[in-house]
Amino acid sequence: MASLTPCDQSPSGQVGWAATGLALAVAEAVACGSERGVLEVMDGLWRCKKGCKKGQSILKGWAKDRILLVMSPRALKTWLFAPAAFGFLMAAMTALGLAPVSEAESRILDSPVRTDIAVPSLGPQLQALAAHGLELSREDEVRAGDSFERLLGRMGIEDRQAEKALQNRAYSKVLRTAQGRTAVVQTDLNNRLLRLQLLQGGDAWIFERVGEGQFEARNAQLLVETRTEHRSVEVGQSFFGAMDQANVPSAVTDEIVTLFESDLDFRRQVKAGDKVRVIYQAKQVDGRDLGDYRLIAVRFEASGQTYEALYFESEAVKRGNFYDAEGKSVKRGFLAAPLRYTRISSSFSRYRLHPLFGDPRAHQGVDYAAPVGTPVRAVADGEVTAVGRNGGYGNAIGIQHNQRYSTYYAHLSRFAPGIKHGRSVRMGEVIGYVGTTGWATGPHLHYEFRVHGRSIDPTKIAKENPQVPSLSGPDLVQFTTVAADLRKRLSLLDSVNTAAGPSLPSAKPNKTAKP
Ligand SMILES: [Zn+2]
Repeated sequence: MASLTPCDQSPSGQVGWAATGLALAVAEAVACGSERGVLEVMDGLWRCKKGCKKGQSILKGWAKDRILLVMSPRALKTWLFAPAAFGFLMAAMTALGLAPVSEAESRILDSPVRTDIAVPSLGPQLQALAAHGLELSREDEVRAGDSFERLLGRMGIEDRQAEKALQNRAYSKVLRTAQGRTAVVQTDLNNRLLRLQLLQGGDAWIFERVGEGQFEARNAQLLVETRTEHRSVEVGQSFFGAMDQANVPSAVTDEIVTLFESDLDFRRQVKAGDKVRVIYQAKQVDGRDLGDYRLIAVRFEASGQTYEALYFESEAVKRGNFYDAEGKSVKRGFLAAPLRYTRISSSFSRYRLHPLFGDPRAHQGVDYAAPVGTPVRAVADGEVTAVGRNGGYGNAIGIQHNQRYSTYYAHLSRFAPGIKHGRSVRMGEVIGYVGTTGWATGPHLHYEFRVHGRSIDPTKIAKENPQVPSLSGPDLVQFTTVAADLRKRLSLLDSVNTAAGPSLPSAKPNKTAKP
């Protein structure tokens, strides 16, 4: 059994390539899609081992050496996915679509998708390759002050002709406003730039080579697809490590923690052998994750208990929430804590010696020690009523949750983008980041919980935390159907462990126009 290095371990995190055998390159490209993955050869077949998102497509392998390569999905589909093979894959993916899981489909879940694809000999393949133009793809992020030269240089492209063609005022203006966007380039085998895309969600600036030394730019809205991903994870050394290893996005992991943290201490109660089954959705453009995820269902077996949460959006309220199998809300009214903290460095007290001034003062909140930059979340839905510098509090945010409750977050290093006065925030939304601004002896979050403006001990409210209303009436009826399907899928996941990499074909993407 020969094993390949994961595509994502190529230098500097970008996807590189080395032409040691194009056929092999193609084999990996198929299994990885344009994503990163690991292939292995077993019984003379290429099989997807880890990180493959397009299901487990297999080619007969020829080569011994490894190669890292990514083709654009377009090039891939054009010449590699023979219609029959592609059809088979799509069928396998559709099997896990939104329809309830049937017995036949559950057999697909149980056994890995595996098929032989008739492969033409190498010569004609190479000809076809040349004819369709093999494209290599790499990506990076646009930084402040980037010029085309610098951006392309960072991605290993030296194409004077392209740089010259892109050197005009209009294009430079686009680039200047593109800071933070994902830059994706396609080149030919001679490392000539064919296309440069600056992406933000589905919004794309596309610079395309249209002739010798000629580029055209256009703005386009790309199709945003939603993929449903299934993961089955067994906790090993640590819960967070196991989730990372199974490629569960950290946003999804955080959401799971948020859901159960009132009932479960993730540091002490989660142990090796505990099981997590997760279904979530990922927004994608052109097979690339946009970093926009939604947790759909989770079942957590820890400390001999089973915790379950199923996402449901009620027609009436038009707002999603998580419920147990009976339609009772899993979410509490308030998060137990606004961040993932190291320890409580100072608890609430009506009287204490101030660490900086040495004199006795009340401590109106709780101090959570955490590294600078740790995300701070709104503990409940509400409206931002204060944001900015506030003396000893440093950078601080106040949120009014309802007539009765408000919360205050201080010493932040910075605010999350878009957080401003009057904006509504949702429970769990990141509002800022831990820092040391104001009177702080070290990085921590000073957090206050106020009832009618008067501070009370936040750890006390966590205990009396009210539950979000349960489902009833038509909502409950509708939820019962949704819940039955989701729970069936979670149970199917019990028979597999995807901790070493996803081994389930994903659901067919639902096409939506915008994220
Ligand atoms: Zn404090």
